[in-house]
Amino acid sequence: MTALADLLARRIGATGPITVADYMAECLLHPEHGYYSTRDPFGIRGDFTTAPEISQMFGELLGLCLAQAWLDQGAPARFTLAELGPGRGTLMADLLRATRGVTGFHDAARLQLVEASPTLRTLQRRTLGDHPARWLDHAAELPDGPLYLIANEFFDALPIRQFVRSGRGWRERMVGLAEGTLGFGLGPETGLAPLAHRLADTAPGEIVELCPAAAPIMEEIARRISGHGGLALAVDYGGWHSRGDTLQALRGHRRDDPLAAPGEADLTAHVDFEALALAAAPCATAFTTQGEFLSGLGIGSRTERLSQALDGDALASHLAASHRLTDAAEMGRLFKVLAVFPPQGPPPAGFAI
Ligand code: SAH
Repeated sequence: MTALADLLARRIGATGPITVADYMAECLLHPEHGYYSTRDPFGIRGDFTTAPEISQMFGELLGLCLAQAWLDQGAPARFTLAELGPGRGTLMADLLRATRGVTGFHDAARLQLVEASPTLRTLQRRTLGDHPARWLDHAAELPDGPLYLIANEFFDALPIRQFVRSGRGWRERMVGLAEGTLGFGLGPETGLAPLAHRLADTAPGEIVELCPAAAPIMEEIARRISGHGGLALAVDYGGWHSRGDTLQALRGHRRDDPLAAPGEADLTAHVDFEALALAAAPCATAFTTQGEFLSGLGIGSRTERLSQALDGDALASHLAASHRLTDAAEMGRLFKVLAVFPPQGPPPAGFAI
């Protein structure tokens, strides 16, 4: 049993079952035993790999997309350049390198990183070297003003609640104890206003998910962009609509039972992009797949350009990385991109509208 499993079992024994969201929050961010609080989970030796860790082109192209939007919106003299959940800081480092040549962009940018994990903050500071940055606990602390923001695999780490349809109501999936070990159970049937519209497209027994933390974060972002201009790009896996049980544990690049090793495995859930887009009102939004987006931004010619300086294994792994990011059978279709931009504003580069 992990130390956190023991703590949770004692808590549940004393006060009763907890929601899946409470379980996820403890597993990911418990100050002593939480998955992100205690380690660097990325890369070959970690539990999973993310797009910026696969190829430098990911951060470069996202950076150029933000810089193009900044130019299109009149190049405001001061703006917030922000990232939610920067991981190792790789994406931001690639973004900053790629935008060095955009006249005035770096001088106007104030870099703000929203990161909960002290371990990862230290790593980000190291990756970004002497580039000045401020770390924040929450998106609500972002300055008021033009905001150019990226979030890759951030929203999938936010805790979700799960509900099983039962007749005309819902029963919440809870984490409780069965003979001393953690197990799933169901709470009492309730009617739930935020799920009223899902009665039309679900049948009894089906699971739907809600991510209570996601909308308030998107509202903070959208308020700044609608008021002062900017662009937010949220890249994640998921779909337009939440459907079924998507809670997933990854440990050593393999799927694991989400209750097996709390604090030792990464827990994520698919992002419900429709809910994010609704929370972004009154901003305009655009939605596409990661493959379409990166192709639209020119990953094909960037791949070729970088290929010219490579041969042997380095060339093969560069080409494999490009394929992995864009191919429909790899990350190209499962991962989606939601852009949030000023109402009536032109859609950003990479979105064919
Ligand atoms: N964007 C990075 C890392 C993705 S992992 C990449 O693509 O490689 C998720 C990141 O979000 C980690 O940095 C994690 O510590 C951070 N995070 C998770 N929940 C958070 C929360 N509630 N508030 C702030 N940061 C959070």
